[in-house]
Amino acid sequence: MLYDAHCHLDFPVFDIDREEVLQRAKLAGVNTIILAATTAATWPRLLNLVESSSLPSLLPSFLPSPQLYACLGLHPLFIDKHQPEDLTQLKEQLLTSPKVIALGEIGIDLHSPKLKAQEAKQWRFFDAQLTLAKELDLPVVIHVRQAMDLVIQRLRRFQLPQGGLLHAFSGSQQQAEQLVELGFKIGLGGGITYPRANKLRQIAQKLPLTAFLLETDSPDMPLNGLQGQRNEPAKVALVAETLAELRKTSLEKLLPVLYSSLLKTFSRLG
Ligand SMILES: [Zn+2]
Repeated sequence: MLYDAHCHLDFPVFDIDREEVLQRAKLAGVNTIILAATTAATWPRLLNLVESSSLPSLLPSFLPSPQLYACLGLHPLFIDKHQPEDLTQLKEQLLTSPKVIALGEIGIDLHSPKLKAQEAKQWRFFDAQLTLAKELDLPVVIHVRQAMDLVIQRLRRFQLPQGGLLHAFSGSQQQAEQLVELGFKIGLGGGITYPRANKLRQIAQKLPLTAFLLETDSPDMPLNGLQGQRNEPAKVALVAETLAELRKTSLEKLLPVLYSSLLKTFSRLG
């Protein structure tokens, strides 16, 4: 019932031990791992990984191996790499790749002067991908930094039929509630394990449990106490434990709700 709704297991930093990383995820009880894309140049590698059947089969055979799925899209952090023709290719892949379940990750990132300088191009690609999601009736996985209200306004205008996931959420409670109203889930990851992340931890306690999905954003977003280390999908178990503690409930009660939210958000799963 445990899953990682957002990670980057295709990144080269996992090349040396990806099998072991997957073994550890399996032992932690993770049964579904969703990989998010960054640039068109890396889509083939990502698709190859999620479609390959060479997943770990060594350790306890009574545990199912995690199933890998992909989001495909053009990530705002790599805005200087994206070309208009990538959008044509994106549509084709979304229509033909069986393990692609959403558009992602897409969004707006204005946290540096360099990214701010490309804001207009970011919006062009974001709008084009939101249009595509609407046309193909697919959910989207969104990355936002320093632009939450603008993105919420945009989503309100688009009214996506399938909503999606606002990954690595770090906004206010009001923004989280607005996103939920628009059909989005709030992605909770390593951030909630930091005692000083008061705002985020309060949101994790106050919104209905159905508002959330679990994620790691591996190899990024390390958990409290693991700063400076590569993050990995198995660690989503600790995110789930923290959420259970914050909400004063048990994993037995928490996980079925969070898993059913995953299936509702990404209808191409299962
Ligand atoms: Zn990501």
